[in-house]
Amino acid sequence: MNILISACLLGVNCKYDGGNNKIPFIDSLLDKHNFIPICPEQLGGLTTPRLPSEICYKNKAIGSKEDKIIKNIEGLDVTSYFIRGAQEALYICELFKCRKAILKSNSPSCGFEFIYDGTFSGKLTKGNGIFAELLAENGIEIYTEKDLDKYLK
Ligand code: SF4
Repeated sequence: MNILISACLLGVNCKYDGGNNKIPFIDSLLDKHNFIPICPEQLGGLTTPRLPSEICYKNKAIGSKEDKIIKNIEGLDVTSYFIRGAQEALYICELFKCRKAILKSNSPSCGFEFIYDGTFSGKLTKGNGIFAELLAENGIEIYTEKDLDKYLK
């Protein structure tokens, strides 16, 4: 079975600061699992390195899906890059018939159940990243690196 995975978790230097989020024991899993790496932010056309971005709401009182906007730390609206990247990554997911995904926690693209709260202060709030939300809408089973050991070892 092919498993979609955030590329930074495999050690690919696609993180906003040019680094990665490699899981220490990931190498030991490569023989047993067929991982398909994706980085939605790069697929959306953002550069690496790039300024960090977070999901905000145009109107805090509403907070609906349509109200979501992604801004970088300088306040530039980068929503269109995130949406394009999520769609491209979903295309890869479907192409390789992945039914499960392991995503990097808290990211505005890949975060699942908790993401940074839009204040660039390191605080978390409930919610999904743009790509994680799209995967969930398409019925993909999602895990983060935090529960990876429970499901794959
Ligand atoms: S978009 Fe996802 S895969 Fe790319 S660096 Fe961010 S968390 Fe990792």
